Amino acid sequence: MPAERIDGVAIAAKVRAKVAQDAEALKAKGVTPGLTVVLVGDDPASAFYVGAKEKACKEAGMNGETIRLPASTPEAELLAVIDKLNADPAVHGILVQMPVPKHIDAQKVIRRIDPMKDVDGFHPVNAGKVLIGDADGFAPCTPAGVQVMLQEAGVETSGKEAVILGRSTIVGKPMAALLIQSGKGADCTVTICHSRTKNLAEHTRRADILIAAIGKPEMVTADMVKPGAVVIDVGINRVDDASQKRGYRIVGDVKFDEVAARASKITPVPGGVGPMTIAMLLANTVRAAQLSLAGTPEG
Ligand code: NDP
Repeated sequence: MPAERIDGVAIAAKVRAKVAQDAEALKAKGVTPGLTVVLVGDDPASAFYVGAKEKACKEAGMNGETIRLPASTPEAELLAVIDKLNADPAVHGILVQMPVPKHIDAQKVIRRIDPMKDVDGFHPVNAGKVLIGDADGFAPCTPAGVQVMLQEAGVETSGKEAVILGRSTIVGKPMAALLIQSGKGADCTVTICHSRTKNLAEHTRRADILIAAIGKPEMVTADMVKPGAVVIDVGINRVDDASQKRGYRIVGDVKFDEVAARASKITPVPGGVGPMTIAMLLANTVRAAQLSLAGTPEG
């Protein structure tokens, strides 16, 4: 029997509806949750993502602002913009769209953002909080979205073998940190694989939950997957396709058709993990606004 598809579009819509509800409740207390995205330069892909984030904020009844700076902006000027946003009580979430131009140190930029406004979850303080399981930390949006998907799809995680392909700081490592916590949607035994891992398929074939985040088109094939496994495909890869008007199509890191014939549940690409990322960004921003209110008399 082919695997059940985990519908990222539907789950993301559910998350966004809850965000809109929470935003309404905050507005009744006089606070409109606000996300400010800073875009340096005019990379078309980044401009597209930033536009999508602004639109999603507005749809959820939140303030969504974008500050657009020229590619030549000096690092000090960008840091000064962040300082201003850190000090602005109407701004609950700050996101600097990556990548930044080469003359700017991305780590310095990330570290300058107030951790309580770091809704991307990239600041070392939040990475640490996620690792120790501190409830007020912000987890990076993609792995947080995967965890929500597993829960919404009714996947039992406790005691399961989770194998993660990829060790980046935005997906693989925080994914592992989330799944080894004790509690709901976690309690997994986690293995992280990367480009130096030997005998990759031996690891992947042990996985009850296999999460691919490597950026290699359709690299995970059916022979690498345990029958009945849950397969989550984070990859977003462009491959040439002359039959498409735009000359390419988007595929994941998993060879969907053959793996779907072996897995119990699987996420498609597109329409799987992708839509969850923006939904979790909104959820983190609303939570940042809730946390900012918690310290005031209204909260
Ligand atoms: P990175 O390039 O930062 O990391 C890729 C990881 O995969 C690295 O740890 C690398 O190992 C590992 N890797 C590469 N090749 C292999 C291999 N042959 N075998 C085993 N491991 C390998 O990518 P990201 O984590 O940023 O993104 C991964 C994918 O997810 C990309 O396709 C990206 O587009 C997508 N993505 C999707 C998002 C979404 O919203 N759905 C959000 C973010 C990313 P090593 O460390 O040794 O180099």
